[in-house]
Amino acid sequence: MRVDVAVVGGGPAGCFASEMLAKHGFEVAIIEEHAEVGNPACCAGVVGVDGLRELKIKPGKWVLGKLRRAVFYPPSSEPVEITRGKVEAFVIDRAAFDRELARKAANAGATLLLRTRCVGLKLGREPVVKLKGGSETEVRARLVIGADGPASIVAREAGLLKNARYLKCAQFETIAEVRADTTELYFGSSFAPGFFAWLTPTGDLCRVGLGTTRDDALRKLLSFVGTHPTASTKVQSGKILNLCAGLIPEPLTRKIYTDRVMLVGDAAGHVKPLTRGGVYVGLSCTQLAAEVAADALGSEPTAKKLRAYERAVMKRFGREFELGIRVRRVFERMTDEDLNSIFELLKREDVQALVLKHFDFDHHEKLLRALLIKAPRLLPSLELKRILKYSRYLLKP
Ligand SMILES: Cc1cc2nc3c(=O)[nH]c(=O)nc-3n(C[C@H](O)[C@H](O)[C@H](O)COP(=O)(O)OP(=O)(O)OC[C@H]3O[C@@H](n4cnc5c(N)ncnc54)[C@H](O)[C@@H]3O)c2cc1C
Repeated sequence: MRVDVAVVGGGPAGCFASEMLAKHGFEVAIIEEHAEVGNPACCAGVVGVDGLRELKIKPGKWVLGKLRRAVFYPPSSEPVEITRGKVEAFVIDRAAFDRELARKAANAGATLLLRTRCVGLKLGREPVVKLKGGSETEVRARLVIGADGPASIVAREAGLLKNARYLKCAQFETIAEVRADTTELYFGSSFAPGFFAWLTPTGDLCRVGLGTTRDDALRKLLSFVGTHPTASTKVQSGKILNLCAGLIPEPLTRKIYTDRVMLVGDAAGHVKPLTRGGVYVGLSCTQLAAEVAADALGSEPTAKKLRAYERAVMKRFGREFELGIRVRRVFERMTDEDLNSIFELLKREDVQALVLKHFDFDHHEKLLRALLIKAPRLLPSLELKRILKYSRYLLKP
């Protein structure tokens, strides 16, 4: 098979890129290893309302719930609730969401090759994507887009992985006592070292998940559910559904283009550095990728032409990635005692007002900057030794 663009991966990023490029009139093939798009899915499915609006994706039947508030459970102090009273995010059915994007790509003219796994990539003037499982054994293309998730084979084969770092996650669905409009986030080094655990309602069920930078996520999740003083009372010991484990990459840990190859979505590390949500950031950067690709395909999509993609991503998200990674580095190293102090700060009225004023579900840089600017006023309530302990991680480039 010979096409203009071979897109490896039929997740949201791959389908979104395919739709845009097919609409430009290019011949596009989407290569997806599974029998259907969106299955299996491993995602809490929390996606910002404003982000979807910006992407011009109208909420569909895949919206399972609407989140108005978040409750943060510090390691060992009282929970803090944050809300502006309005719906900030949807909880989505990822399988149905992905299928809608795939349908749109197919309607625009893209060919979907299911049960077809990419097993290799031969680079050159006309890259060849090696396949197994489906009717084709290879696809030749003028441009290959790696949309094949965090462990991207395209990224590896094209030599684009620099120093990949991942967050390890596990999640299942069950019945739990959580308000329908509230997501609950649980912090503590013994439960979720380096990240947090979540209880996110989906209507009838609740997604119970956890991320960790250090340990086995599944083992940690089971221990969290069984022993956390609050979460264990909320999660009913009933059926466990859709148990899954997955990786989430860190931004800026891979190159995102080379001659005739681009990476999008998780394959490119395009996620929010603080919470690691990847749907909005991935799709927003995919839009940039498709614009650059469409332009480059007018002649030869060489690295020189595709460099505009990285420039566009850095212009839109660069400062956000860089600051977010620094703040994450501090957060990952915090002791439970220090986390408790941070959440104590969040209970103060003036700090809550600041957070509510600057909070943006999809863009955390604005809030982080506002907090850093106000830091001298907030610092007296944190001990100096704490500040010094972490400041080098914040300042390190
Ligand atoms: C537990 C967990 C919870 C999360 N929660 C959220 C959340 O609440 N909000 C949010 O925004 N993000 C969340 N994320 C992140 C989000 O799921 C990803 O950012 C998003 O799925 C990235 O989309 P993608 O299209 O880049 O990759 P993927 O969704 O991973 O899609 C990649 C596709 O490529 C296919 N593929 C892979 N390798 C091959 C191959 N060799 N050949 C053919 N096909 C291949 C896969 O089958 C898959 O269909 C979560 C992630 C995890 C693990």
